[in-house]
Amino acid sequence: MAEPSIVVPAHSEYIAQGCPTCHRGIEEGQTIVLCTRCRVPHHENCWYDKGGCGRVGCRGVATARGDKLGVPGSKAGEALEEIKPVHDPRSSQLPIPLVLAIGAIVLIVAYYLFMR
Ligand SMILES: [Zn+2]
Ligand SMILES: [Zn+2]
Repeated sequence: MAEPSIVVPAHSEYIAQGCPTCHRGIEEGQTIVLCTRCRVPHHENCWYDKGGCGRVGCRGVATARGDKLGVPGSKAGEALEEIKPVHDPRSSQLPIPLVLAIGAIVLIVAYYLFMR
């Protein structure tokens, strides 16, 4: 579940707090994310670029990037999903040449047995 992002309203309490990641102020109209642990506001980009809280000692971690920013690399790994042809082990147990050879031996043995 992604952290809820907030568009800073005018006269918000967050404006005075500042972003701990880039040490710049938080301004009205910017999109911010509150740390899941310490509730300190971060710029949305700072939160996701750093992957979590910018405050020293806080281990708040960003979970998932919001949809509107896109998810880079989401197509990575699709190439690994290629369907491999299924190799049926039963078909390799008795190769056709071996079957023919066994058949020929049986015929030869039967032939000699018959001729006695
Ligand atoms: Zn920032
Ligand atoms: Zn934090």
